[in-house]
Amino acid sequence: MALSITDRCVNCYACMDVCPSDAITQGASQFEIDALKCTECAGHFADPQCASICPVEEALLDGLGHVIHPPGSLTGIPPTLRLQDGGSADEWRATP
Ligand code: SF4
Ligand code: SF4
Repeated sequence: MALSITDRCVNCYACMDVCPSDAITQGASQFEIDALKCTECAGHFADPQCASICPVEEALLDGLGHVIHPPGSLTGIPPTLRLQDGGSADEWRATP
């Protein structure tokens, strides 16, 4: 099994240097994980290091294709208030 990177990746470089398997490289438009090299950090760390350091929600998928950091999990912003989901800045400011 291997993790993978989605088009939400913002090319911040944070994950590349923490991968113990040198499985992460910069692709044409976003960073990529070589599925043949990714070990999910087994034998090195208890948790996938790329997922631990990635600051972007929905940028990484686990070996089953599930989003590791779903919307709101890192920012605390309720998904319904995200601008791209139809929320507005006024709604966000009004949130207690
Ligand atoms: S899960 Fe571990 S081995 Fe796989 S790409 Fe991420 S840091 Fe590298
Ligand atoms: S840490 Fe996340 S956002 Fe940054 S390059 Fe890696 S996958 Fe992309």
